[in-house]
Amino acid sequence: PFAHTPRQVLSAHFSYVEPEPAPDPVLISVSKPCGEVLGLDLEAILADEREKDRFIGFVSGRYVPEGTNPWSMAYAGHQFGSWAGQLGDGRAICLGEVTTEAEQRWEVQLKGAGLTPFSRFADGYAVLRSSIREYLCSEAMFHLGVPTTRALSLVGSSRRVQRETEETGAVVCRLAPTWVRFGNFELFLSRGDIPNLRLLADWVIAHHFPHLAAHPTKYSAWLTEVTHRTAKTIAKWQSVGFCHGVLNTDNMSILGLTLDYGPFQFMDAYDPQYVCNHSDHTGRYAFDAQPGVGLWNVAKLASAVSPLVVDEENGDKSRAEDKLKEVLQSYAGKFHEEYMSLMTKKLGLMSPRPEDVETLVKPLLAHLATLQADYTHFFRSLSTGFTLAQSDSKPPLSEPLEEWYNAYRTRLLSELDSQAQDVLVKADMDRMQRMKAANPKYILRNHLAQQVIDKAEKGDYGDLEAYFKVLQRPFEDGSAEEGTKFAGSVPSWAKGLKCSCSS
Ligand code: AMP
Ligand code: MG
Ligand code: MG
Repeated sequence: PFAHTPRQVLSAHFSYVEPEPAPDPVLISVSKPCGEVLGLDLEAILADEREKDRFIGFVSGRYVPEGTNPWSMAYAGHQFGSWAGQLGDGRAICLGEVTTEAEQRWEVQLKGAGLTPFSRFADGYAVLRSSIREYLCSEAMFHLGVPTTRALSLVGSSRRVQRETEETGAVVCRLAPTWVRFGNFELFLSRGDIPNLRLLADWVIAHHFPHLAAHPTKYSAWLTEVTHRTAKTIAKWQSVGFCHGVLNTDNMSILGLTLDYGPFQFMDAYDPQYVCNHSDHTGRYAFDAQPGVGLWNVAKLASAVSPLVVDEENGDKSRAEDKLKEVLQSYAGKFHEEYMSLMTKKLGLMSPRPEDVETLVKPLLAHLATLQADYTHFFRSLSTGFTLAQSDSKPPLSEPLEEWYNAYRTRLLSELDSQAQDVLVKADMDRMQRMKAANPKYILRNHLAQQVIDKAEKGDYGDLEAYFKVLQRPFEDGSAEEGTKFAGSVPSWAKGLKCSCSS
């Protein structure tokens, strides 16, 4: 049953759109945990022929249930630092909005279901390659604890889609509490349409920030919260080694979710200057640029909603400006707070100290960069690689890291009340458990995604499902076979494999 929230505004903030049915749809995969958030028992649905057919119809654009009226949104944005004017959902169609029993709203969206009024020069389709990447990564990020949009299903079709070469078409059904982006607000400001800017802000606050609805200066309070959520999500990316690749303001969720999985990549070898998008010639969206880009993007949002903040300051422009400045200044602190908390967790520290980032985290990362060490493997193997109980125990580290290890060990010991043997043994056990829960064994690696894609292109979805399974429990060791297949060292042919924006 769909809720049907009235949201029509003038000057086309959205358009009603009918999805185009995917020809010969094949249901390649479903995410059961994502189904659960909608209250769907996918296992039961897929076991029943009629229900299954209806479900496939729904997620492939063939069947639109009664009582909903699918739409696509217009938005604008800054792409690679320049104003890009009006954009919009060029190949995304919201089927409707579901309110679950727990009063959680979800906008259910098809990506790759054909043209919309916002498709501009493109075809409205998505290819299997990029759809597999988005499907797997959305769910992998969720299970890593990173705020993200979700993916419910992956459908392949017999449609041939032209990119650099001709590829298989696909449709992903994806979910977010709302798909509203920074760019939606930028669109209204660029049109000078302040009444609709306000309506959209009010709608977002009422439905997604209800605790702020009665706040006396709700717009600046809301902007503050969006700023902080953005800072925290990007801190999480930095802690798991995730590069987004296209951090344009139209790809920035108003809820601080990771949004738009394109040429993204989890880094293999740690390289702070890593650029995963091979169309990003200047490295604008390099790994270590992400926190700064997040702030740059939040500043664009702040400008977009500034008329609302001026109004709530009773027209006092300079007070509003000071407020906005204050909000933006709070970004760095939030980022560092979250980053420190995450990185010290990865090191197994129980009570982080502000100086840990300078004295432990940064020197370690500098070494890892020099050594071109695999970021994920390093932290996972450090987790169980040594004990405090044995005074000569050392993880297998290359020489430049030995001095660092001594400082690290001393820091770990400083958290304990006593160095009695039984205390050390217990502390080691607890720490290993904590570290394994903070350092994933399984991430979505580019070359493994590519192998899964190559097989899927031939109709073999076994590895996709097997990989999907471990990505849903990234902190567990899994079977020996899973480890060999999906957590082995990265082969040399796979190093430097990059993606284009084309998807
Ligand atoms: P992105 O770089 O993925 O954020 O996409 C930028 C803009 O291009 C968005 O407005 C997309 O909706 C649109 N777009 C990307 N690919 C397609 C496509 N195949 N068909 C229509 N619109 C697209
Ligand atoms: Mg986008
Ligand atoms: Mg995209």
